[in-house]
Amino acid sequence: MLDSLKGKRIYSILNSKCPICHEGDFYVSKNAYDLKNFGKNHTRCSVCDHKFEKETGFFYGAMYVSYALGIALSVALFVATFVLFPETRYYVYIAEILIGLIVFFPLNYRLSRIIWMNLFNHYEANHIKHQHAK
Ligand SMILES: [Zn+2]
Repeated sequence: MLDSLKGKRIYSILNSKCPICHEGDFYVSKNAYDLKNFGKNHTRCSVCDHKFEKETGFFYGAMYVSYALGIALSVALFVATFVLFPETRYYVYIAEILIGLIVFFPLNYRLSRIIWMNLFNHYEANHIKHQHAK
């Protein structure tokens, strides 16, 4: 998908690919709604051997990204409802935002981790296998 974007961070993010080589998969399951496995990721890239969790607790930082995505989703839901159904009562907003956050949780979780990883890594076109092995 989106082959013309290869080499850009958005390619790695949208395809859940390794941020270094853009070829190896980051997540074990391709389906965000495979609820048993959606959050499981490989420890190393199968193509370039990049270690995804560069230090212990690295992915705790993804909570900041997750928070931003959650706020963006909540605002989008609020604005869409406000525009389409201006007479909506306040508790409907609260309910729809809570339901939206729950329904999109697996996507949010996966996106926030891969975005966080892409903040600290970039594409290396001439990656060599085992270059990152330590
Ligand atoms: Zn890789």
